[in-house]
Parts: sequence; C-alpha cells; structure tokens
Amino acid sequence: MRGCNNVCSYCVVPYTRGAERSRDPHTIVREACDVFSKGYKEVTLLGQNVDSYFWKSEEGNVNFAALLRMVAEVSPELRVRFSTSNPQDISDEVIETMAAYENICKHIHLPVQSGSDVMLEKMRRRYSREWYLQRVAKIREVLPGCGLTTDVIAGFCGETEQDHQDTLSLFEEVCFDSAFMFYYSERPGTLAAKKYKDDIDIETKTRRLNEIIALQGKCSLKSYQAEVGKTFKVLVEGPSKKSADELCGRASNNKMCVFPDKIHKAGDYVTVKVLSATSATLLCELVEA
Ligand code: SF4
Repeated sequence: MRGCNNVCSYCVVPYTRGAERSRDPHTIVREACDVFSKGYKEVTLLGQNVDSYFWKSEEGNVNFAALLRMVAEVSPELRVRFSTSNPQDISDEVIETMAAYENICKHIHLPVQSGSDVMLEKMRRRYSREWYLQRVAKIREVLPGCGLTTDVIAGFCGETEQDHQDTLSLFEEVCFDSAFMFYYSERPGTLAAKKYKDDIDIETKTRRLNEIIALQGKCSLKSYQAEVGKTFKVLVEGPSKKSADELCGRASNNKMCVFPDKIHKAGDYVTVKVLSATSATLLCELVEA
C-alpha cells in the first residue's frame, strides 16, 4: 500500500505520498507466488501504515490480517515480514494471525516516537503512552520472544525534561531490541512547522538523544544476551561481513545470527544455537542442516 491518512505533525509523508491506497490482494499474492517460484524465500509487505490495509470488494473485504494469511499460505517455506505498524492500528487479529503461522516472522517495528502523552498529542500520534504499553503487553502475551523495535524523536517542539524522562522510562520498561533514534528537525510544510516553534536548542536535543542512545545500547545488549543458549531457525543471507568462513542470516525475530559454516548458501534454512551475543549480533553454532 502507499500513502498515509494520518497527519503526524512532524511528518512530510502525507504531503509527498498522498492518501492511503491499498493494492488488490490477489496481485500481491500473485507476486509472492512468482518470486517464490524464482527461489526467493522472504517477502516484506510494505506500507507507511500497513495495519490499516483494507481492500473492498464484492467477493469480500480484505483487512491486513486476512492479507497476511493469504500471503503466508503461498508456502510454509516463504517467510513473510511487514513494516511499518502504527501503534493505534495494530489489531489483536494481526497479532493472533502472526501466532498462527510459523512463517510470519515474529518481529514488529512499532514506532513510539515519544514516551510523553503531551508530546504524543502534539505530534498528533493517535495513541497514549498507556495504549502503547498495552499493545506491547498484548504482543508479548501472544507472541513470546517476538522482536520489537521502534523509532523515537528527541527534542520535539516544547519538550520538557519531564517529557524526555518519560521517553527514557518507556524505553527502560519496554527494552526494545533496537531503535532508530533521531533528534527533531523541522520539515517545511508540515503541521509542526506551521504551528509550533522548534524551540529546543541543539545542545539539549543532542544531550537527550545521546541519553536515549546510551540507554538503548544497554537494552539491546540485554535483549541479545537473553537469547544465549536458545536455538533459532535462520534464513541464510550469505557470508558474514567479517569472515568468508562464516555465514549470516536472520532469526524470525529479526536478530542477525553469525555462525561458522562452509556448506550452506543464501536462501537455505538452518538451525543454530546461540553461544554469545553483542548488542547487534547473535554469535552461534550450527546445530542442524
Ligand atoms: Fe503517516 Fe507514519 Fe508519517 Fe504518521 S509518521 S503521517 S503514520 S507516515
């Protein structure tokens, strides 16, 4: 799908990509079948706000959960990922559909943007901190071990120290696997540019961003180290960056695994056991072909 019907006050997408348009699900399934027949093993359903996917038709309407099911049923050997979810729209049905299909990868990118209700309202995000935390609780209840990543903006217009502390405490509470972290920079033409003063000085923005980055570094390490001793099914992507004797590939939860292996190749599924971890990589051994 393309476009977005939300008008988050900092975002330029609604002006550059236009209103939300969902594609005919049958053409999506046809494309997935086509790439699978050519040897591809993973597809990603893309949209600015994938959870609001909706196709209206006389044969029956198709929402995002139904689309996920249709693509997952192309083959159990085809992995399905999707991005990006919006906390206000990710439904129980989507979360439960993920649980029902092994080949729907257990990773959700759920941009929070701020842990402060005051900032969320100014950003025109249509959820509260509490709603966000409830969605995370639901995901963790139905999909234990599901990868969770986020986006955050430090130093949005009028952000107080308390708002910033609210973001830090949310990061502490959720302990994301990783995050895209930025400080606010005004985009011409957006609602925020018209309505609010970009009034947090660059030193404060940088300090707040660095505090979030430092905290997230600790959370990433904790999250990756919690996987030590577990086994994962990995889709091989190719040689690792550091050594021709090692392969790399992602587990369903999107964590990158590296392991010594000279036999397998890109597109193979292997099972690995995690021996140790950094804050961005699981160092593994092959346990099964
Ligand atoms: Fe849409 Fe995402 Fe931009 Fe909000 S941030 S307007 S949901 S694209």
